[in-house]
Amino acid sequence: MNAFFNAPEPSSERYDYLIVGAGFAGSVLAERLASQHGARVLLIDRRSHVGGNAYDEPNEAGILYHKYGPHIFHTNSEQVVDYLSQFTEWRPYEHRVLACVRGQQVPIPINRTTLNMLFDANLRTEEEAAEYLAQRAEPVEEIRTSEDVVINAVGTELYRLFFRGYTRKQWGLDPSELDKQVTSRIPTRTNADDRYFSDTFQAMPLHGYTAMFEKMLDHPLIEVRTGVDFAELKNRAHEIADHIIYTGPIDEYFDFRFGKLPYRSLKFDHQTLDQEWFQPVAVVNYPSEDVPFTRISEYKHLTGQEAPVTTITYEYPSAEGDPYYPIPRPENQELFKRYEALADETGGVSFVGRLATYRYYNMDQIVGQALATFRRMDEKLASGRSE
Ligand code: FAD
Ligand code: UDP
Repeated sequence: MNAFFNAPEPSSERYDYLIVGAGFAGSVLAERLASQHGARVLLIDRRSHVGGNAYDEPNEAGILYHKYGPHIFHTNSEQVVDYLSQFTEWRPYEHRVLACVRGQQVPIPINRTTLNMLFDANLRTEEEAAEYLAQRAEPVEEIRTSEDVVINAVGTELYRLFFRGYTRKQWGLDPSELDKQVTSRIPTRTNADDRYFSDTFQAMPLHGYTAMFEKMLDHPLIEVRTGVDFAELKNRAHEIADHIIYTGPIDEYFDFRFGKLPYRSLKFDHQTLDQEWFQPVAVVNYPSEDVPFTRISEYKHLTGQEAPVTTITYEYPSAEGDPYYPIPRPENQELFKRYEALADETGGVSFVGRLATYRYYNMDQIVGQALATFRRMDEKLASGRSE
């Protein structure tokens, strides 16, 4: 742990950077700027911990759980893996999800096994499964929405069974009101591959996310202060540091000048049960609107921890609460663009991360975005030196 980690008194010195938010975006930039530029960094977060939404901790029963819902690492980027591997070893883990449909737990993404289980289809080859799906699919000429994507691939019956209810609960909107990128995250397969992700690298940080963040931030030039809201420092931010990196919600930074940008929230119900296992895989999805939650996660499947008890989390989507998901639809993108234009005109501040750039990005994409931001800063510094 570095000497400044939550130091009781704020250091009175000036910093090169004030970074707001200690999630992936803020922590990667703090690490890069301190270790590569020798910059003095003050990293703040209004929560009581680092790690952002990827934060994990052992609960009272000693089970490592994810406070903000299950986080599974997967990527196709070698650069991101190489970077994070400086701060963690990995536990090989391939994510598998079942969906509770018509009283059965069947693989999602929909694959050949799903079709055989639900419809007794007896499909033996990829060709047979492709032919079966082609018969169900209802081609949509211009695919714009999250409804179009699924109906076009698998037809109305499977759309209703797996996607419509889940999406209405998760987003408070019908799939026809959401950009196609949302349900496009879930592929359709004709083989029996039952992994949730297809990425080349799938693994969990061996000792958890928080341990990885602590190692990343363990640098004498990084001072971490948790429980500090940017609002408390905003008026004197440029006295504290030459440059600000802001990774919170962009509309909040500008005091909601153009109105609130919609973000979707979740309520997490964490439970520890006096039994070894609760369900066969780490995540079971509940697409039916008969129950108010979307999925149940069981952490020991992700972490490999062995214990006689188990911790699970129910996710209840909500309009109120911490902003977790930007909501991809055209009118929100338009509002974001107005904030982005304001951000571009605002000197001395960089906006990075899922909330500040209003993008439905996974962890690896945020690490990639932060590393790209650093590269641009690096180039600017180098060109400044050569002038
Ligand atoms: P965040 O992690 O949100 O960090 C931003 C930080 O800024 C927060 O800690 C916040 O407290 C702080 N902050 C904001 N405003 C202020 C302020 N005014 N003052 C001080 N601090 C402030 N990705 C995957 O790759 N795989 C998954 O399986 C996965 N599962 C997910 C499950 C859920 C339920 C959610 C919500 C997300 C999931 N993600 C997953 C996405 C992942 O959480 C994000 O990509 C990643 O955490 C974004 O990092 P970030 O640094 O941009 O933002
Ligand atoms: N989705 C669905 N049914 C499922 C799984 C996903 O309708 O069984 C849709 C839903 O709209 C969800 C989106 O696909 O929000 C993306 O799913 P993912 O599991 O990637 O969501 P995240 O882990 O980001 O919450």
